[in-house]
Amino acid sequence: MAAATIHAGLEILYTRDQISKRVAEMGEQISRDFVGQKVVLVGVLKGATIFLADLARCISLDATFDFLSTSSYGKGHQQSGEVRLLKDVDHSVEGQNIILVEDILDTGLTLSYLRRVLSAHQPRSLKIAALLDKPARRIQKIEGDYIGFTIPNKFVVGYGLDYAERYRNLPDICVIPPSALGDE
Ligand code: 5GP
Repeated sequence: MAAATIHAGLEILYTRDQISKRVAEMGEQISRDFVGQKVVLVGVLKGATIFLADLARCISLDATFDFLSTSSYGKGHQQSGEVRLLKDVDHSVEGQNIILVEDILDTGLTLSYLRRVLSAHQPRSLKIAALLDKPARRIQKIEGDYIGFTIPNKFVVGYGLDYAERYRNLPDICVIPPSALGDE
């Protein structure tokens, strides 16, 4: 783990180079698993956008994009336990191979909910690609099919992940110290 700090008090957990290498491996794996088939990459707004953009370019298949949106933590980092769908997919995914692309698998509430929502659209197959997995916080039993990194129970930002909408544009994944997190 790199010890360098950026943006006052943030510690780098994964550098842009480590992320890029791992995302390429994930793309290669998906390309192998679905060789000769089409896939729909369904990103969860907004956190998964940067991961989806990079992952998509490492997938050598005929791929299309769609996006879903759920209610989030609000401004802070607390999980209320309630997930609501704010935006469904734009196009029919019936009979398609869906890769649900998410930034982080934490309590599992969001992806369990979205898996149910997407299953109702009767896809041909439904897989989950999450850049990060925080298994220590799991409430709902769910596992990703493609996981970038398994991380400890720390609140991370960067590479699409925010804290009160900030830090999404950091190219690295960084940890915010608990003392800097409000209880919003
Ligand atoms: P879950 O429903 O699995 O608890 O959480 C999913 C969502 O919570 C993620 O898509 C992400 O928006 C948010 N989340 C969970 N852990 C973190 C974290 O460490 N950092 C940030 N920025 N968001 C997180």
